Amino acid sequence: MGSLDSFRSEVRDWLAEHCPEEIRVGVRERLSRTRFDEWVRTLGTRGWAAPGWPTEYGGGGLDREHRAVLSQEMRAIKAVPPAGFGLSMLGPTLLDLGTDDQKQRHLPPICRHELIWCQGYSEPGAGSDLASLQTRAVLEGDEYVVTGQKIWTTGAPHADWIFCLVRTDPDAPKHEGISFLLFPMKQEGVKVSPIRLIDGTEHFAQVFFDGARASTSDVVGPVNGGWTVAKRLLQHERGVANPEGRAAGAGKKKGLIDLAREHLGVRDGKLDDPALRERIAQYEMDSQAFGLTMKRAAEEASVGQTERQIASMSKFLWSELGKREQDLAMQVLGSRGLGWRGEGFEDTELARTKRWLITRADSIWGGTSEIQRNIIAKRVLMIPE
Ligand SMILES: Cc1cc2nc3c(=O)[nH]c(=O)nc-3n(C[C@H](O)[C@H](O)[C@H](O)COP(=O)(O)OP(=O)(O)OC[C@H]3O[C@@H](n4cnc5c(N)ncnc54)[C@H](O)[C@@H]3O)c2cc1C
Repeated sequence: MGSLDSFRSEVRDWLAEHCPEEIRVGVRERLSRTRFDEWVRTLGTRGWAAPGWPTEYGGGGLDREHRAVLSQEMRAIKAVPPAGFGLSMLGPTLLDLGTDDQKQRHLPPICRHELIWCQGYSEPGAGSDLASLQTRAVLEGDEYVVTGQKIWTTGAPHADWIFCLVRTDPDAPKHEGISFLLFPMKQEGVKVSPIRLIDGTEHFAQVFFDGARASTSDVVGPVNGGWTVAKRLLQHERGVANPEGRAAGAGKKKGLIDLAREHLGVRDGKLDDPALRERIAQYEMDSQAFGLTMKRAAEEASVGQTERQIASMSKFLWSELGKREQDLAMQVLGSRGLGWRGEGFEDTELARTKRWLITRADSIWGGTSEIQRNIIAKRVLMIPE
């Protein structure tokens, strides 16, 4: 790996050539799905969709410093970062717990963004109490036959494969009869029924399995030992996989203060409304403190001292901070923050309304804030039940 300076100019040159203006919009929501997929595939050709993964699986093989340079250069031009359930959840879990064969077969297509994955955890009777899941998988020869139902499956209508929690021993205690199974979505026996949201989009779906087939070579971890794999994946989902990214993002948003200055009265350089001023200042301080905590976590992780429950703390804090930030933005904007579509509102105002709504969901997916609080109480503070 070359020096950081030469790598920085290599990244700049590559981005200048491969990252068109329309990709420089900061967030994925501002790109069409097709355009986003094309962009992640382009990054994949250079190994930069998964910059830290080993090159043998199609990753970039970059160490922490080189990854930081890549992400700084991408942020500097607002290039949309790569994302996806394969990249952020399944891939890191397979790197930790998958067999060599599973890594060889599944990681390169994730790096090249050729296959889209979805997550089959929640069921109508199993959300926060995930281990109550009822979807069954029964062994038939060298295949499992899956029957049951999942819900709130993000991206299922477009997904090629699913990583799915299934019950393989109905007689075992509930945490001990679960396996972690991978199988294709495009097969007989899988029916996807999209759930239409208030904005007309259909990202979510109910997924019904009626005789879906999975190879025994696609059980990750031991049969009936899937709960450990499921928890490992949740740690990646909740953010332990990327404390560096969270640290870099946290506490750096100037948006709220600028927004308040723009929309509200300012006297002697201060916002006129003392109550709102205090709430914004408190938010900014908490956000800075969160950024520093995540930076510390990233440094500890780099020397192998990751605090086990940092994932729950990170998920709880960033999702609650995100809600507070958007609540404050709504207060600042007043009636300008109520636009949904149509004339009379600017695009940035309409985007704010959507952002405010999205943050409501952030403290639900991947485990609600109440559940993160329970985990922190039990595992970090050791409070007896
Ligand atoms: C945007 C979004 C995307 C999602 N994507 C996926 C996906 O791709 N795949 C997938 O499998 N799932 C997905 N989910 C589902 C998500 O994981 C569940 O919604 C979540 O785990 C909560 O489960 P639930 O909805 O069944 O609520 P419930 O578990 O029924 O909870 C209802 C309420 O009760 C509270 N509660 C429950 N138990 C306790 C307790 N012990 N102590 C205190 N309070 C408690 C909860 O905090 C919540 O407020 C997604 C959800 C959202 C919002």
